Amino acid sequence: MFRRICRGITGSNGKTTTTALCGHILQHAGIACQVGGNIGVAPAAMAATSKPGQWNVLELSSFQLETTRTFRPQIGVCLNVTPNHLDRHYTLENYAAAKGRMFAQQTDQDAKVLNFADPICRGYQQLGHGAIHWFNQTSRHSSRQYEAQLPGEHNQQNIDAAIIACRIAGADEQAMLEAVKTFPGVEHRLEFVRELAGIRFYNDSKATSVDATLKAIAALDGPLWIILGGKDKGSDYRPLIAPLAGRARGVMLIGAAAGKIESHLGDALPLHQSQTLDAATRDAFQAAQPGDTILLAPACASFDQFKSFEHRGDVFKQLVRQMEAR
Ligand code: ADP
Repeated sequence: MFRRICRGITGSNGKTTTTALCGHILQHAGIACQVGGNIGVAPAAMAATSKPGQWNVLELSSFQLETTRTFRPQIGVCLNVTPNHLDRHYTLENYAAAKGRMFAQQTDQDAKVLNFADPICRGYQQLGHGAIHWFNQTSRHSSRQYEAQLPGEHNQQNIDAAIIACRIAGADEQAMLEAVKTFPGVEHRLEFVRELAGIRFYNDSKATSVDATLKAIAALDGPLWIILGGKDKGSDYRPLIAPLAGRARGVMLIGAAAGKIESHLGDALPLHQSQTLDAATRDAFQAAQPGDTILLAPACASFDQFKSFEHRGDVFKQLVRQMEAR
């Protein structure tokens, strides 16, 4: 039997980015690893191909964790726990308990990396026996800002969590600094598409929750045209009002959730019922001024009009790339 070393990364938002970043850092630091889980290679297949001494970096969703009884990562990371998938788990308590299963079997040989500012993550310090490592502490102990291509404060949190986990896995500091700087990000996550006529386009099709959309809005500067809508996941869209008020030149609504979003955002914002992504993107571009940003960060699932969030992001990027200056 070879020794398998494993780390798991969970959270409501940021799992894929942080998992990919951990893989990138470990590779850069010359530490053997394979990456998979919720994305790419399934955990069982990873176990079969794992080599002695190699780290397995696994992205784990609440769906995968809710049925596990024995999973024990040497390093467990929880990025955040915010209302998401409540259509499936029904209560935030159930959802939080599912994610907490990551830590329940850990021994004092293991480590957990937790978001100090997130109350549910903080609660996980009670679970299992792993040593606790906090990130996102606003005290003087908070970690440094790493130079990175990834925009936004939320990505600094993902970077901090990845750095702590990779440090525990044995990566050296200089290699981590360089790796963070060269990490290009993951497709469909606040991905810069192009600039045309002074207008910048971002594809954040993976922003399928209100929380992720709020992070995208906070990560970008200046006036915004934002495309919202798709398949509703039982969300409350009212938290979008305050950060968009005064900044949104247009809120383009598409898909099945458009009516609900309109009823939540009310008269507070310049809403347009665009119905389709195509119309929303073209109308926003027609009316945008140089210096504006057009952002697809829909706060909804994609399945009403698209096969997947990847499909939605690809359609957006194709539209944007085919556009010509007015
Ligand atoms: P996940 O795999 O958990 O869905 P991703 O890395 O694919 O996470 O990112 C999903 C969305 O969440 C992206 O649109 C991104 O803008 C947003 N996001 C990424 N990291 C965070 C974070 N730490 N907190 C909140 N939102 C985040």
